[in-house]
Amino acid sequence: MVIDPGHDGKDSVAIGINGIQEKDAVLKIAKKILELNEKKDAPLDIYLTRYSDTLISLSDRTNLARALNADLFISLHCNHSDNPNARGIEVYVANAISKYSDESIWLAFLIQVELNNNLGFESRGVKFSNFQVKRETVDYCPSVLLELGFFNIGDENNFPKRQKLLRRWL
Ligand SMILES: [Zn+2]
Repeated sequence: MVIDPGHDGKDSVAIGINGIQEKDAVLKIAKKILELNEKKDAPLDIYLTRYSDTLISLSDRTNLARALNADLFISLHCNHSDNPNARGIEVYVANAISKYSDESIWLAFLIQVELNNNLGFESRGVKFSNFQVKRETVDYCPSVLLELGFFNIGDENNFPKRQKLLRRWL
């Protein structure tokens, strides 16, 4: 399984409250997933597309998934919005139909349910997009892209249970 912390050394996109940058937040989340996996005696074989604040192109990320013959590709992002009322999780799958479209959509749906049940994030639905990292992986394995909440909006971190979990993560 390949986890792809979005962005890299030169681009960051979303800046969260407290000034944390999206590229750093998603890397921390990815490393936390690795750590949790290790604690449980590593039931999953997980690789990251980057382990530090380094430069890696979108093609190199998807090439890694292919080279490793990954059975799952998950990109991590944080959302941002100028609308102070924006809330919730978006999960994207490639909009082109391919061998793994159905599994990707099903996985996206399950992830939404889990994030809603366990972390209290609102669900904004499964969405379809032509993101390069999805387009170039969905022929090879189920592939989803997570927008993990609007982290430039304070409320997204205010829900008590989530705040506790996020503090542990970040
Ligand atoms: Zn992003």
